[in-house]
Amino acid sequence: MRVVALFDVDGTLLTCRGAGRQALEDALADLTGRTGLLEGRTLAGGTDRKLARWGLEAAGHPVDEAAIAAVLERLPGALVTALEAVDARAHAGTFALTAAMREAGHVVGLGTGNVREGAHIKLRRVGFDPDDFAFGGFGDDDEDRNRLIGAGIGRGLALCDGPARVVVIGDSDRDVAAAKANGVACVAVRTSQSTDAQLAGADLIVDDLTDPRAWAFLGVGRH
Ligand SMILES: [Mg+2]
Repeated sequence: MRVVALFDVDGTLLTCRGAGRQALEDALADLTGRTGLLEGRTLAGGTDRKLARWGLEAAGHPVDEAAIAAVLERLPGALVTALEAVDARAHAGTFALTAAMREAGHVVGLGTGNVREGAHIKLRRVGFDPDDFAFGGFGDDDEDRNRLIGAGIGRGLALCDGPARVVVIGDSDRDVAAAKANGVACVAVRTSQSTDAQLAGADLIVDDLTDPRAWAFLGVGRH
């Protein structure tokens, strides 16, 4: 059966080594004049809209759609600058796996709390072509990760003629929760800070995406 895959970006396809957090802080500082607004916050599995809201609240700034949009508008430029200062890289196995899935006729997309433009900037920075991901659920879609993953699943299924098996691939408990909330399967990777206890609801947990069990679960053989 055809697989519709939604790959998380940060911690799953790649690591930005803190540039994502820095960019959010810089975008918030540019708007509010305050720094360190996300200190102590866990960003893993978060969404840009929710993080913008948290930052605005911490600054005592009015939290409305215009203010959130003003943060998100500043984010891509801040991200380009922040990424120049770090050694961002793709995680092991991610280029080969996503290419093999496309070759096999599966539908490969993104499921990420990043706004679309931000996700594409990060992907390009480590050598992916964003056009290779046929669809996505993005941080622009919704503040709530479960709902934005749901939007992405709908777009992926719309690209299939017949039945398909949907799989979310992620590195945090929020990826697992979003998969379960939408009634689809989840492959979790231990490529960031998450413990196995946090990833426990996943159908499969692997060290990284070179693991042949992940490839088999996603409908391709490991060469
Ligand atoms: Mg992640």
